[in-house]
Amino acid sequence: MPRPRLVDLHEGPQVGWLFLDLNAYFASVEQQDRPELRGRPIAVVPMITENTVCIAASYEAKRFGIKTGTRLADAQAMCPGLELVAARPRLYVEYHHAIVAAVDRCLPISAVLSVDEMACELTGREQALSNALRLAAALKQELRGVGDTLRCSIGLAPNRFLAKVASDMEKPDGLVFLLKGDLPQALFRLAPGDLPGIGTRMQARLELAGIRTMRQLAALSPARMRALWGSVVGERMWHWIRGADFHDPPPPRRSLGRQHVLAPEFRSREAALEVGLKLLHLAATELRKLELWAGGLGVQVDFMRFAGQPQPGDPYWEAHTRIAECRDDFLLQRYVRRLWRGCPPAKPISVGVWLYDLARERQRTLPLFDAAEQQRRELASDAMDALNLKFGPQTVYPGGLQGVRAAAPTRISFSSIPGLERF
Ligand SMILES: [Mg+2]
Repeated sequence: MPRPRLVDLHEGPQVGWLFLDLNAYFASVEQQDRPELRGRPIAVVPMITENTVCIAASYEAKRFGIKTGTRLADAQAMCPGLELVAARPRLYVEYHHAIVAAVDRCLPISAVLSVDEMACELTGREQALSNALRLAAALKQELRGVGDTLRCSIGLAPNRFLAKVASDMEKPDGLVFLLKGDLPQALFRLAPGDLPGIGTRMQARLELAGIRTMRQLAALSPARMRALWGSVVGERMWHWIRGADFHDPPPPRRSLGRQHVLAPEFRSREAALEVGLKLLHLAATELRKLELWAGGLGVQVDFMRFAGQPQPGDPYWEAHTRIAECRDDFLLQRYVRRLWRGCPPAKPISVGVWLYDLARERQRTLPLFDAAEQQRRELASDAMDALNLKFGPQTVYPGGLQGVRAAAPTRISFSSIPGLERF
């Protein structure tokens, strides 16, 4: 069993959150998958062309000053022996799922925040610092079971915000804890810009107000922080850096959608509709994952004015419709098909589908006679998601998508983690 025995301790220092951040994630996965790259300076790039940037660097490459965002030409000048690796998003997502499962065996995950970051809220005896440190060690061990090149930095703190800050304080393979009694002084060796949410623009605003150090930031009143931020976020941060444990409800999502430039073989009205339905399927899957309902649906098609690449000013068509709050593929598909009748018969170059007026709860009551039918369709959509998650890419999908399963590739970013089912 990976989960260590926890000593019963009711006394002593306590922490509320554990934050885990993988070190040099994409580069480590490459070194795991290709042993010949281990111990070598490598940079992961989106594709191997001159005008690109590094999206990850191994620790051996970081020693030369290379980091995420370094231009490839600069990176090669800094480290002539640099090995370039073209990114393999699918592999990183596969490892991501294995890592999430491994962490979850030690400690339930409260939130997966990106492809290489997750947060766990500690409860009961887990909150005793000595036990939390034991759990952190177990997590690191468990991670090596997924891949022995994988390392992570772990932060322990009274709230999630500070646990993330702590995870950033020691790299690689770090383990840092911040205790409520030591706050905010324990942060004084950091700069305001080291706090999540203080980017370059906010930093500039703080500097204009004469705030350059964490000590100066910590001396502000909650009201002053609120004024500086121009929102309640500043006031929240005042409480967070003192160890208060509360976090925000996720912001309401107003819309979500997908757009895709059509490959040449899909540049017909019929094929574009099929791609549109696939995009709809992806958007609807996300909608259900987020537990939201859509109250409106839109489609947009760009047409090609000249042969070659799409250009600004190309003609386009769009249509949208209000819909009874729903989130099942089958009903949404019917709306898209109905709108599509208005699509002009020109040669399409890209297609987009979006869902809007998203709501957490259904605000409208179901029409009495449709209720059973709608519920059945929703159950079918939920079952489809579950199967795809368990058995892999598009085990089942709504009818009409057979020809286009590979037509709209999924891209990966740090801020969103596509489920494997989208590949
Ligand atoms: Mg990381």
